[in-house]
Amino acid sequence: MSLPTLFISHGSPMLALEDEPTTRFLRGLSGQLEMPKAIVVASAHWETEAPQLTGAMELSTIHDFYGFPDALYRLRYPAKGDPLLASHIGGLLAKAGFASSLDHKRGLDHGAWNPLLLMYPKAEVPVVGLSIQPKQDARWHYKIGQALATLCDESILVIGTGNLTHNLHEAFRSQHTQTPTWVSEFAVWVEDNLAKGDLEALLDWQAQAPHARQNHPTPEHFLPFFVALGAGGFPATKLHADTVLGVLAMDAYAFGAISPRA
Ligand code: ZN
Repeated sequence: MSLPTLFISHGSPMLALEDEPTTRFLRGLSGQLEMPKAIVVASAHWETEAPQLTGAMELSTIHDFYGFPDALYRLRYPAKGDPLLASHIGGLLAKAGFASSLDHKRGLDHGAWNPLLLMYPKAEVPVVGLSIQPKQDARWHYKIGQALATLCDESILVIGTGNLTHNLHEAFRSQHTQTPTWVSEFAVWVEDNLAKGDLEALLDWQAQAPHARQNHPTPEHFLPFFVALGAGGFPATKLHADTVLGVLAMDAYAFGAISPRA
């Protein structure tokens, strides 16, 4: 049985503690999928020059944020790592021309553990973290995703976690009561091009998408989208949409065929 891949918008670190539409969506999401044997999660919050994978057997919970309530710092996500799978992925990346390395100390950042805590609260599925390369473009990350495509046939769930739009300055500066058009037009552009299967337009998003720079002053929160798209391929299924803090689009997508849970 083949699993689709997922792109998840993780929003604020408070996601795991709040009861909002995206929290409820993520709590229900795992029940729609076959139970994976392992999860590979590419997070916007692990930025490196070259691809790295978590190689530890025990993954620490990284609280990589400041000024939030104590309850958030007390949350732990005790997922096991999977060093063998990490090595296997390193081999797949090497075959595709990517030199990668294992980080034996790194745990899971909040972009990874926050959604996983909602999706798999028992932490019963082993996890391998994968870094992104903010100096590289969408095509680079799409090719990394393609290198991982065979994992979907091995019941391994590939997740890219970032945000469909991510202008934090705007999110905290102004109190938007309605989603501004520069946000919604970007989200619609992504959805339309996914529906058309226009990969070349999507890969050229920084030039072609409306208000690309305004929605992503830096690209790291959109790059995991391309890892998920590369691994799962078309068709794309829109699973969820919401906007938080006025300008953060929380859209989530599945890539590849979704076979219902047996
Ligand atoms: Zn983030």
